[in-house]
Amino acid sequence: MQIYLDNAATTQIDEKVLSILNKSLKEDFGNTSSIHKKGKEAKEKLEQARKEIAKTLNAEPEEIIFTSGATEANNLAIKGILKASKKKDIIISTIEHVSIKNLCEELQKEGYTIHKIPVDKDGFVQINELKKKLNEKIAIISFIHANNETGVIQDIQKIAELCAQKNIPFHTDAVQSYKKIPLDLKKIKLTVISISAHKIHGPKGIGVLYIRKGTKIKALFNGGKQEHGLRPGTENLPYIRAFAAAAQLPYPSKQIDKKKTYLIKKLKEILNIKINTPEKSICNVVNLSIKGVNGETLVRHLSEQGIYISTGSACSSGTIEASHVLKAMGLTEEQARSSIRVSLSKNTTKKEIDETIKHLKSIVPILRNI
Ligand code: PMP
Repeated sequence: MQIYLDNAATTQIDEKVLSILNKSLKEDFGNTSSIHKKGKEAKEKLEQARKEIAKTLNAEPEEIIFTSGATEANNLAIKGILKASKKKDIIISTIEHVSIKNLCEELQKEGYTIHKIPVDKDGFVQINELKKKLNEKIAIISFIHANNETGVIQDIQKIAELCAQKNIPFHTDAVQSYKKIPLDLKKIKLTVISISAHKIHGPKGIGVLYIRKGTKIKALFNGGKQEHGLRPGTENLPYIRAFAAAAQLPYPSKQIDKKKTYLIKKLKEILNIKINTPEKSICNVVNLSIKGVNGETLVRHLSEQGIYISTGSACSSGTIEASHVLKAMGLTEEQARSSIRVSLSKNTTKKEIDETIKHLKSIVPILRNI
C-alpha cells in the first residue's frame, strides 16, 4: 500500500504530460537558436508553449520567461529588479518560502534593508502594517500568494493595488496557487510572478517568471540572447513543452476541496488537535498540530506504513528548526514541532483519506505515551 499525501512538496507527473515529454526528448533536439529547419521547428514549439502558459494567466507571451524552477524565478525576480534599481529596501512577509527568506537574509548581509510584515494568527499579512512601510525607498515587495505550509491565501489583488498606487514593483510566489486560484493578470496589477511545473503534475526543474511589460529588470547570468537576454542558455524545450501540457490540464479545485473538507472533519475526531490552515486557503493543503506528538516522528512512522505526508515544508526538512511560518502565526515552539502537513491531489481518494485517519488514530495515542 502506498498513499501519497505530500502534493504540496511535489506531484506525480501526469501520464499525458509524460508522453509529451518523452516524445519531445526524442524529437525536439534542435537548438531553438539554430537557423536551420530543425532549429526553426524547435523555436516554433517553444513559442507555442509560451503562448499556452501565457493564456493560463491572461498574460502576453513575451511576458513569460522560462527558468529552471521557481527557486530561480524567485531569485531572478528579486535580484533582477534590485540590479535595475538604485533603491535598497525590500518588503517581504514573515511567512515566505525559504527561497525568498534565505535570499533576503543574504541580501541583508550585502547591505540591503529587509522589512518583514507580520501575519495574524491565521497567517494573513497585516495590511495596516504594510501601509505604514510603503514609501519611495522600497525597491520591491514580495509576498507568497498561497503559503506552502498552511495553504493560507493572501489578498494579492488588494496588495497589488496598494503597490501600483505607489509605483512599487510587486512580486508574488504563486507556486502553490497556480491553477488552483485563477489569476487574471490583465485585472491584477502584479509586476512579477513565479510558478513551477512540478506542483501541477509537470516535471521538476522547469519554472516560469512572468514579467509585466515595461518592468525594469536585469539578468543574473551573462550569456546569449535567449528569453530576451534575461535567462541566457539553451532553452529546455522538452521540459517547457511538458510544463505547457501540465498547464493545460484541468485542475479540479472543487473536487479536491470537498476531499479536504472531509479530511478536516475526520481529523477533528482525533483529540487535542489544532488545525493551522484557515478557511481561506488553497484546496489541497491541511496543516495541523497534534498535541504531545512530535511531527517528525509521526511522519517517519506513517512512512513505514506506506503513507507519505510532511512535517512543515519539504524544502526545509532535514533541518531541526521548527517552522518559521507557524511561529510567525504565534504558535509555540512545541505546537510548531508537533505539526504535520497533509496535501491532496486530483488522484487522492476517500479510501486513502480513511486509511490515513485509521493509521493516525492508532499511532497518535502510542506516540503520546512514549
Ligand atoms: N516557492 C514555493 C511556495 C514552493 O512551494 C516551492 C517548492 N517547494 C518553491 C518556491 C521552489 O520551487 P522549485 O522547486 O521549482 O524551485
